[in-house]
Amino acid sequence: MEKVRCLIIGSGPAGYTAAIYAARANLSPVLYEGSMPGGQLTTTTEIENFPGYPDGISGPQMMEDLRKQAIRFGADVRVGLATKALLAPNNSIVTIDGETEIQATTVIISTGASAKYLGLPDEKKYAGLGVSACATCDGFFYRKKTVVVVGGGDTACEDAMYLSAICSKVYLAVRKDCLRASKVMQERVLRNEKIEILFKHEVIGLVGEDGVSGAILKKNRGEQDEEVYQIDVDGMFLAIGHHPNTNLFKGSVDLDETGYIKTYNGTQATNIPSVFAAGDVADPRYRQAITAAASGCRAAIDCEHYLIENGL
Ligand code: NDP
Repeated sequence: MEKVRCLIIGSGPAGYTAAIYAARANLSPVLYEGSMPGGQLTTTTEIENFPGYPDGISGPQMMEDLRKQAIRFGADVRVGLATKALLAPNNSIVTIDGETEIQATTVIISTGASAKYLGLPDEKKYAGLGVSACATCDGFFYRKKTVVVVGGGDTACEDAMYLSAICSKVYLAVRKDCLRASKVMQERVLRNEKIEILFKHEVIGLVGEDGVSGAILKKNRGEQDEEVYQIDVDGMFLAIGHHPNTNLFKGSVDLDETGYIKTYNGTQATNIPSVFAAGDVADPRYRQAITAAASGCRAAIDCEHYLIENGL
């Protein structure tokens, strides 16, 4: 079985940054990129708030740059998905793609988070036929069409803006009477003539023969004037947040009540000595590219200290 000193699982800004720092500390890190190399930022358009990029940078470009930087310092970046993890102090066994086992002295978990769905049966029924959780991946298919974006955060606003440049009309269905997005995003959406915000609206179903042709909306849920009606749309984009990718680690690493990995003592250490966590998988609060990258750096430094302190 292959033995590695530092195994990094996941390849967003957290994983790649951990790889850069671990490689520069001579830990010979091996990083498995997972099912979506580059992570969630590969599905965004411009990153405008990462310090040092006054003109912004595209998500895929930033991830490619981070990947190259990690490789430049000797990180072994590999294609492969961790499918099983037996985590133990100084001796974790991680299975890749259901077949290759790796024995790791230390592990940095940076598996990120995935898009949430509403939980409607119609989401499954129309999967790939008008329902998507990635505007930048699938927006292209809705050229000159009408879509509804669900959510009121930065992702929803960003998706609505992106789709407004492709589609003829974009509804933004927000369950509350206000947006949660940052002020700058709110203003952009409110100014955009192609976007119609439907406050206090929920999508409760979809209709259509060979694909989505309409969405059933509930307005003012629980109020006297509650109303259910239908709008014509060709697609629905979900932008209602994310859940952490921690299924693999349930029962071994401590998770909080919403499934995020718990870290301790102001470090990236988990409850298992030699196992660290970085990025969105351990961050229910900030979830930014910059905070993910920073926690990847911290995890690599924690990992290096751990190896030295334990003479490993
Ligand atoms: P958020 O958690 O910020 O927002 C989720 C939105 O979805 C909220 O409006 C929420 O409504 C709504 N929602 C959640 N569940 C449901 C449901 N079942 N039905 C209807 N609506 C629902 O998630 P985001 O993905 O937007 O953002 C995550 C983080 O990433 C944030 O910190 C954000 O600032 C950041 N981000 C930053 C960007 C940037 O700076 N360019 C771009 C994208 C994200 P409610 O308000 O009622 O809870």
